[in-house]
Amino acid sequence: MMAAQRKAVVEKPDKPVFQLSNVSKIYGQRDVVALEAVDITLNKGEFHSVIGSSGCGKSTLLKIMAGLTPPSRGRVMLSGTPVMGPRPDIGMMFQQATLFPWRTTLENILLPLEIREGRAVAAAARAKAEALLSLVGLKGFEHTYPGQLSGGMAQRAAICRMLIADPDVLLLDEPFSALDEITRDFMNMELQRVCLERGASAFLVTHSISESVILSDIVHVMSARPGRVVKSIKIDLPRPRTLEMSTLPEFGHYTSTIRNLLDKGAFL
Ligand code: ADP
Ligand code: MG
Repeated sequence: MMAAQRKAVVEKPDKPVFQLSNVSKIYGQRDVVALEAVDITLNKGEFHSVIGSSGCGKSTLLKIMAGLTPPSRGRVMLSGTPVMGPRPDIGMMFQQATLFPWRTTLENILLPLEIREGRAVAAAARAKAEALLSLVGLKGFEHTYPGQLSGGMAQRAAICRMLIADPDVLLLDEPFSALDEITRDFMNMELQRVCLERGASAFLVTHSISESVILSDIVHVMSARPGRVVKSIKIDLPRPRTLEMSTLPEFGHYTSTIRNLLDKGAFL
């Protein structure tokens, strides 16, 4: 009886975090169709990525999910409510860390809280910011200015800044693409660890096929303009993922499937 009950708890049905239905985006007077009829459901604790060639509408999709730009058509729901503008339950990261050079690492991490909740709340979160810095291996750099951090260190600080408000969902726009490959692999594993530890859901924009496969539960492959999701591929590799998994035959199978789809759809 007890075992059956526990099982029922573990196997509760998927809980949608993001639900995008029929989302399209048309830009400006020249009617650039950046996205067409995108349907995506991201469930609690899942990691999805979207992959496609440059200019296919990936960043547009992420901006719509973040409430930074409205869709021209369709609906975006987050935790059951429509996304109408920026929300505190969303954490974001971009290609550049965009830390303020005149603030220390710790002060940069506390900035979103300071802006949203005021100085007192930010000051009270100091211990939490320090714990986050340890989590990403930046202990001892609390009072360092961004000018003295490497690219990888700055992005690690940006991870902390994203996590300080305990977001339920992480939206990541090519966060590590400016880093060298070795640092990038390492950062991807860090990102996975942080997501697993916190039960966070994540949505990653990337143009790296191997990165999308190693990190994701589902990879959405996009066509070139207008950006449509050509296929959503479930990646059936165990967690936690390791970099060594990239040598598995299944891994090669996934990457070649995605490459073929991109070759067929990306330049039509
Ligand atoms: P990706 O991130 O996949 O490289 P984007 O979402 O940035 O693609 O852009 C998709 C298309 O929409 C591109 O053709 C781009 O020129 C166009 N676009 C993006 N932002 C705007 C904007 N603010 N105004 C007009 N066109 C835009
Ligand atoms: Mg982009």
